This record gives sequence, structure tokens and C-alpha cells, in this order.
Amino acid sequence: MALIVAKFGGTSVASPDRIKNVARRLVRLKQQGNDVVAVVSAMGKTTDELVGLAAAVSDNPPSREMDRLLSTGEQVSMALLAMAIDKLGYKAMSFTGRQAGISTTGLHKMARIVTVDNVRILDALSEGVIPVVAGFQGIDENGDITTLGRGGSDTTAVAIAWGINADVCEIYSDVDGIYTADPRVAPRARKLSQISYDEMLELSSAGAGVLQSRAVEFARKWKVVIHSRSAFSDEEGTYIKEDSAMETAAVTGIAHDTSEVKVTLRSVPDMNGVAGKVFSALAAKMVSVDMIIQNISEEGFTDISFTCPESDLDKACETLERILPDINAKAIVVDKDIAKISLVGTGMKSSPGVAARAFTVLGDQSINILAISTSPIRLSMVVDQAQTATAVQALHTAFGLDSDSVFEETQLTPEEVAAKMVKGR
Ligand code: ASP
Ligand code: MG
Repeated sequence: MALIVAKFGGTSVASPDRIKNVARRLVRLKQQGNDVVAVVSAMGKTTDELVGLAAAVSDNPPSREMDRLLSTGEQVSMALLAMAIDKLGYKAMSFTGRQAGISTTGLHKMARIVTVDNVRILDALSEGVIPVVAGFQGIDENGDITTLGRGGSDTTAVAIAWGINADVCEIYSDVDGIYTADPRVAPRARKLSQISYDEMLELSSAGAGVLQSRAVEFARKWKVVIHSRSAFSDEEGTYIKEDSAMETAAVTGIAHDTSEVKVTLRSVPDMNGVAGKVFSALAAKMVSVDMIIQNISEEGFTDISFTCPESDLDKACETLERILPDINAKAIVVDKDIAKISLVGTGMKSSPGVAARAFTVLGDQSINILAISTSPIRLSMVVDQAQTATAVQALHTAFGLDSDSVFEETQLTPEEVAAKMVKGR
């Protein structure tokens, strides 16, 4: 018997039938003797549709009204789920963010949770009710509705789990856990039974988009155990929790990200203040620069390259063109066809030679490394995008991550995968 928060994402509640499935699942948890609180996202693509509606009315909708609008998606799914549970003969009650006691900062569309007042949820539980909470929303000091940023229902679930001191926060979605690599790219990827918060955060920011990073940060801070699992099967997924001393492998997982581009400033005078000017100008335009590479200078000139999300490329180019005369650089060169491959593992701290091994593996595959960056538990390398699958597969094998079984439906050759790969996620 446990106290469980169970969060269901948009795909899991995309239709009335799926909502009924979720209801059955919750009832089953209840029948097994657990106390359970559900948290739901909006049905399917509802939030995107609401964003579209707003855009059709105004190209600059006030963010207060935007939050008011977006919060309605979750209110539909929560009420329908409560009805479906009721139909199965069990008590359920839906709660908006306000009713669930979720207070946030006033920053619309990106609010942060400040407190969780769990009284109504706990009262409902004590009466044998299954509370169903609308994800993604809260209430600010003025009593206005706020939302937590796209994908924010994960954060709601973790916050509720923390607020009621739940044993686990189960996050149900269309993926059945966290894998050592994307199985579509590395058919020998393995599902991890557990992963640490730090590793999960590094993997997410390196392109493995399963859980909202903020939810994981929240969970790490308050020690909430997350269980990421499939909404469509009973199989155990992956537990995200504090590092266990058991884990010793240098590399836990490999992420790849094809959504970034590389921009190079050619032939920049190698003198002090130039890098400062370039990156201050980019920062002022909110370009999120990831990796930076500066070459050794030749005859007083050097190349400066950086990577940034493709969605920031236009801003980046406009900015650089504006300052080009000022810094005396020759040209701007853009390379869109890059991929960032990241090895992540807490074990990296205690096993030297990970970088050397990774570079050798890529070298053996004739893959050129265009940029490198590291954190204590991550090594990222930028390569030609067409070589993504080859790189991920070779590293996956070299670091002992391969499973004995192969994902049948994804048994594509690296070339086929490369051909299928599209820019962005
Ligand atoms: N419905 C919101 C979104 O699509 C929140 C969520 O799904 O977590 O971003
Ligand atoms: Mg979602």
C-alpha cells in the first residue's frame, strides 16, 4: 500500500477511450490498496490548438489572458477523467490548480510554484476519493490563473507528490522509460531501471526530451522519486532518484540533439575584447549559445564558432551582421547539418579516460569532431549530422551499453536512420 501521484500526459488522455483506460488504471491502483492522486495534461494537441486560436485573434495576446485560455485544456480532461472514474463505481473529484492549492509567482506562461497547500487533496483522500488535479496551472498572489510553461504538468505532479509526501510520482506517457540511447537511432538501446536526478537533467538538456527538466529539478531539490513509465502497458519503467552507490558504469546514457546549428565568424582579429563584444551582442538578443570554439590564431586572425538552437539562428545572424564591421570579421558561415552527441554518467567523475576512449571510437569510424564541451558528468561532441546514428551506435557499443535484444521495428542501417533524420525534435 502506497501513496501514489499518477500523472498522465496529453497522448494518454487524447480520446474518451483513452480517458476510460486511465480511469481503469487508477481504479486498479486503488483496488490494490493504494491511495492515488491523478494529475492530467490537456487532451492530445489541445494546448497547441488553443495557442493557434489565440494567434488567430491577436499577434500579441496579453499573457494573463493566454494563461486563462491555456488553463482550460486541463480542466476539460480532469472533469472527464473524474466522470470516467465515477462511472466505474469509484469516487473521484477534480480540482483546478487553485483548488489544489498551487500558488505560483506572477510570471505568466512561465510561473514557478511557490507553495502547495494540500488540504483539499488530503481531505479527499481521507474520504476514499481519487482526486484528479489539473496539471500545468496555478494561481498567483492576485488570484490570477498562471501556467507553468509547456510540459508543465510534470512539474505539477512532482509538486503535488512533494506536497502530500507521496511515496512515488508516476509519470505515465507514450514512452515506457528512459533508455541508454534513443532506440530509433540505437536499436540496441536498453531501458534503464533507474537513473540519478543529475544524469536525467544532463540527458534532458542534451536532447533526450522525456520529462520536463523543471520537474526533475524540483524532484531533485525535494527528493521526490519519479517513475517514468508507459500509459499503455503494466511494465515497470525507469525510476529517477538519488544516486545509488551501486552504479559504477562510466557512461549511463547517450543523448543526441540535431536541433542546433553551428555559426562561425571567419577571420576575426585576435585581440582582447572581441569575444566579449560578440557574445554580449548575442546575449542581448537572447540567443542561447551552447558550445564555443575559438581556433588558434594565425597571423593575428582567428575563427570563432558557436552552436545555438536553430530557432535562434535568424536572431544570431542579424546580430552578427550588425556588429561585423565593428569587430572587423570577414564572414559569417552557418552549418546547419550538425548533431551533438552527449555521453552522460555520474561514474565519469571516477573513471578517467572517457573522453580519450570516445574520441578514439569516433576516429575509428572516420568521424570528425567539430566541437567538444564537458561538465563533470557529461561529454558532448559535435559531429556531422549524417553521422549521428553511426556515432551513437559505436559509442553505445564501446561503453558497454548494448542490450542482447534488438528493437525489431527500428533495425535500420545508420544510413537509413540518417536519411530519416529531420532537423529539430
Ligand atoms: N498541456 C500543457 C502543454 O501541452 C502542459 C503539459 O502537457 O504538461 O504544454
Ligand atoms: Mg506534455
